[in-house]
Amino acid sequence: MLSQIKTLAEDLAPRLIEIRRHLHAHPELSGQEYQTAAYVSGVLSSCGLHVQEAVGKTGVVGNLKGNGAKKGILAIRTDMDALPIEELTQLDFASCKPGVMHACGHDVHTTLGLGTAMILSQLREQLPGNIRFIFQPAEEIAQGASWMVQDGVMRDVDSILGVHVFPSLQARSVGIRYGALTAAADDIEIFIKGESGHGARPHEAVDAIWIASQVITTLQQAISRTQNPLRPLVLTIGQITGGRAPNVIADHVRMAGTVRSLHPETHANLPEWIEGIVANVCNTYGAKYEMNYRRGVPSVQNDVNLTQILENACREAWGNDLVELLPEPSLGAEDFSLYLQHAPGTMFRLGVGQPDTVNYPLHHPLFEIDESAIITGVVTLAYTACKYWEINQT
Ligand SMILES: [Zn+2]
Ligand SMILES: [Zn+2]
Repeated sequence: MLSQIKTLAEDLAPRLIEIRRHLHAHPELSGQEYQTAAYVSGVLSSCGLHVQEAVGKTGVVGNLKGNGAKKGILAIRTDMDALPIEELTQLDFASCKPGVMHACGHDVHTTLGLGTAMILSQLREQLPGNIRFIFQPAEEIAQGASWMVQDGVMRDVDSILGVHVFPSLQARSVGIRYGALTAAADDIEIFIKGESGHGARPHEAVDAIWIASQVITTLQQAISRTQNPLRPLVLTIGQITGGRAPNVIADHVRMAGTVRSLHPETHANLPEWIEGIVANVCNTYGAKYEMNYRRGVPSVQNDVNLTQILENACREAWGNDLVELLPEPSLGAEDFSLYLQHAPGTMFRLGVGQPDTVNYPLHHPLFEIDESAIITGVVTLAYTACKYWEINQT
């Protein structure tokens, strides 16, 4: 099976690079992936898959039937949206849309989903179970997965695979991680309400700006003193506004930020813990407050059994030197975790780094990949799917 998959992938390589470059040149923002979805749907239909469009607003689902020996479904999820970034690469196939760029590699992910569908559709007689290809929109705004799940894409799904490109790993290599891969990411908004007054007479006012600064400082210090240092927690206040004039004490401040954590217990207790600190500081200095805590996406926790199947498939396909067990998770967020609330899954990092050159990070206007990674990605997905059905056959 492996050599068949590799041969099919090599034969498809020029076509896959063409697809990737087409998608790269025509990026679409989160929730507006209309042309991408139509393109994806066309390719899937030409492979003989049963295709559903407009799932999760602008998502696409392709169902591939195996030979009928097994009833279950293995899902393979990829994402399709681009970012509001002006592309600065000089590539022939650079974005033709001003201010929109595939700077997170979702053009590559979409290509991987399509390439895997092209390969597995040719091997369906040997495939005991079914595969559901999920092409989701709006990953960058952490909404697409929940739209897809609401529209029922996880119905009857037993397990799910995901992939994200990773520029700090060299192309042709694959990064695997057991357990936590990405962090839980929540949003926080805090309003501090003081009392205005003359800038020269602070004792007659309640200075919302100073109290906001105390809230931020206390939160950061409290992380170091009251949270378990072995359970990572990052709180970033990325926005702060308040005040009307240099000599007027501000009566109102708004702060907004992001809270990242890995441990479920830390995550569960965050709203209460943060509000306790905000309330104490505000009470001490006579201010009122309001806090909105919005749960974002949970942490991606890779399932042990599926990750083992993935690791075995990769070692067989690529040899030990190209398989890296990632020592650390990331505090980035990924809405793949929302699918994992419905079925176990695993997500891997696909090396796309180019040798002897600067590899710009994800979300950078000069981000580019080594396209040889596309073959690594499709073979990894296709072969892992085959191994999955081989193991789950008994
Ligand atoms: Zn991104
Ligand atoms: Zn991404």
